[in-house]
Amino acid sequence: MEDADNRYVAPGCTLCREGAKLVLFVTGRCDRGCWYCPLSAERKGADRVWANDREVVDDDDLLAEARAMSALGTGVTGGDPLVALDRVVHYCRLLRAAFGPGHHVHLYTGRAPTDDELRPLVGLVDELRLHPPHDDWHRILETPYPDAIRRARAHGFAIGVEVPSLPGLEGLLPLLPLVDFLNVNELEWGESSADAMRARGLELAEQHGNAVVGAREWARPLLGHEKVRYCSSSFKDAVQLRERMIRIAVNTARPFDEVTGDGTVVYGRLSSDDIGGAVAALELGDGEYAVVDGAVELGWERLAAARTAIEGEKAIVERYPNRGMLVEVIPL
Ligand code: SF4
Repeated sequence: MEDADNRYVAPGCTLCREGAKLVLFVTGRCDRGCWYCPLSAERKGADRVWANDREVVDDDDLLAEARAMSALGTGVTGGDPLVALDRVVHYCRLLRAAFGPGHHVHLYTGRAPTDDELRPLVGLVDELRLHPPHDDWHRILETPYPDAIRRARAHGFAIGVEVPSLPGLEGLLPLLPLVDFLNVNELEWGESSADAMRARGLELAEQHGNAVVGAREWARPLLGHEKVRYCSSSFKDAVQLRERMIRIAVNTARPFDEVTGDGTVVYGRLSSDDIGGAVAALELGDGEYAVVDGAVELGWERLAAARTAIEGEKAIVERYPNRGMLVEVIPL
């Protein structure tokens, strides 16, 4: 797949930009200890599974999340997914069985996978993204990664490298003839990597963001190459996340919820001791309201229009879709 400049874009990236890629976090375990590891304290080292932000306790949790966002593909991540290879195989089979062979799957790993690790993934994973350790970048052709890339290609996988933007990125240039793509993610400040970042003299670029000063400069020697893509922190938040939220919001909104351009939903909430009376007074029909936690939820404009005529505590509520996090509650 190529972009407007005729440069290769990994299929997994195209779906991610559309917000159509589910993020399946299969384990927080990893046998590396990168100082810049972006995992949160909650996820780092935890042998638990999340589909986007929903914890996966049984298979239905994963399928429900995939359906809620009409996922067209899945990015398998961690930790290192290859630490939990059997689990990866199980979930990928589940996704393929539910959504068919067209459901695109890409998988990240910090390892240089062996044949024994690659074989079980054939037919279940389309694209592999390798993350060689930063300390090896300057001698990348002497590491096990070039052979792993050739092996992966022989097994039929699309193969790329995906790394954070750090000094010394140009060390990866010799890999470009071997791979389909090289993705550079803007280095992000993380809660568990903050001390290590400070110790190296790094700084946050802006108060309201996670980008680190200098990250784009470190990527500059690679930018412009036809196989190289740079993914900024702001793009991830502003485009990928928002697009995913909009998909989930549209799929899960009730008839009276308003879906915003940010992918949140807005509705009215009326807390009343007499729910039946409030529903009758507002002349709400089927589909025009829901009773949730002892309150009536309905279209916010309808509630706003009746606010002086109806008893009870009234508010306009904005939240992430599917009963996600509250963004704002405005009393009426
Ligand atoms: S390989 Fe990835 S998950 Fe593992 S420590 Fe490094 S950044 Fe974290």
